[in-house]
Amino acid sequence: MNLQHHFAQLGDAFSSSTSIQPLADQRLVECNPSLATFLGIDMKSQETKQLFSGEQAIAHSLSMVYAGHQFGGFSPRLGDGRGVLLGEVTGQDGRLYDLHMKGAGPTPYSRRADGRAVLRSCIREYLASEAMAALSVPTSRALALYDSRSAVYRETPEIGAMLLRTANGHIRFGHFEYFFYQGKQTELNQLVDYCLEHYYPECLETDSPLENMLIEVVKRTARMIAKWQAVGFQHGVMNTDNFSFTGETIDYGPYGFMEDHQPDWVCNHSDYEGRYAFSRQPGVGLWNLNCLVHCFSKHLDKAQLVAILQHYEPELQTHYDQLMLQKMGLGSVAHLHELLPALLAVLTAEKADYSRFFRSLSHFDGVDQTPLLDEVIDRQRLSAWLMDYQVAREQEGGVWQEVSERMLAVNPKYILRNYLAHSVIASAEQGDYLLMRRLLRVLSQPFDEHEESSALSQRAPEWGRSLEVSCSS
Ligand code: AMP
Ligand code: MG
Ligand code: MG
Repeated sequence: MNLQHHFAQLGDAFSSSTSIQPLADQRLVECNPSLATFLGIDMKSQETKQLFSGEQAIAHSLSMVYAGHQFGGFSPRLGDGRGVLLGEVTGQDGRLYDLHMKGAGPTPYSRRADGRAVLRSCIREYLASEAMAALSVPTSRALALYDSRSAVYRETPEIGAMLLRTANGHIRFGHFEYFFYQGKQTELNQLVDYCLEHYYPECLETDSPLENMLIEVVKRTARMIAKWQAVGFQHGVMNTDNFSFTGETIDYGPYGFMEDHQPDWVCNHSDYEGRYAFSRQPGVGLWNLNCLVHCFSKHLDKAQLVAILQHYEPELQTHYDQLMLQKMGLGSVAHLHELLPALLAVLTAEKADYSRFFRSLSHFDGVDQTPLLDEVIDRQRLSAWLMDYQVAREQEGGVWQEVSERMLAVNPKYILRNYLAHSVIASAEQGDYLLMRRLLRVLSQPFDEHEESSALSQRAPEWGRSLEVSCSS
């Protein structure tokens, strides 16, 4: 493994030297062979095993320091309280990927917490990040999961675990806030140069590299959130320390994938005000970007900063429209804007399952409405909508069968339902990872039928409808 340490070279102002502190009887219980191959990592080699288990120290492994706006309030010093950046590797695409171990033990940024992660939350992150990757949402990925015999105390004693994850970068909006609010201009500039060199080199060729890099961050964030809205993903803790400068979904905590369509849904039971409700995510993305660009108010004037932020809304809207056009099997934005709000209103009124509805719509042949109508109570309302939809589809003149195939390739049969994650965790806590593997198989190819696993596409049974997730992890 060719482990590199570019971030470590930035120096002490940016991080603290930290190593993995192994858990008792730590075992590798799940790994991601295709991702390992992509990153050129041999998970079976003795060297890799020793490095990832913490038996052999990694020179230059570190925890990063950053700040962040948490639920609207500014925390001047956060940092990796339980994460260690082992280093970077180059992927087959030529880009850099961080190797980051979550739950690796206390760091100088742990404050009063234990530096650990529980098996429950590591499994939740593993499943979600792999599901998101398969849905083409930019995201961190899971490379390996370790369980242990260490007890980690949350509301009750739980099993300690670690998750080895990768992302293009772990630099957060909060990294810039950390230096800006302390007036550390030199370090802020160093971080800008670092990001330009490693993540946005194309901007170095332009007249105004910083401005163009920020525009690119705004656009990547807009596209990421458009994708969240289209697939029905809710992040749960959209604090600026959980927002990546490379536009990737990171820090999966109390997230959720929308089952019943409910725009004001709040998946995180610790989010009492519903600040990060599903329908608020686009607005919060802009709020966070505003925090980010404010850090450059000594570099750029107000008009420039506003102009940078103005790229957000059109980028998000255009991207969301494209994704929804594909999901609906439509070609015209005018048709989309006419039909989508009415459909979403029906789904909300019916508490219909968002993903299952789009999957059923993909099978619609323009003749037999029955399977779709069987999913709702107000058959007349949906039937009227389907008639309008049919007219639009016919005006567009596509071949029903061909459009249907394209829709099936973007509307997943399988999503990560909370009750499924719950069942996987319950088995894993008994040492059984078979269900986890079975679920990962369908989530990583969510558009395929997998007839033998169709049960995993069902709506939650009664017991699984009221499970809560919180910030505890
Ligand atoms: P989050 O919102 O989950 O990303 O966490 C916010 C901050 O709390 C980050 O700086 C984390 O590293 C830190 N943190 C969360 N849980 C722990 C823990 N068990 N031990 C130490 N730090 C933690
Ligand atoms: Mg975080
Ligand atoms: Mg976290």
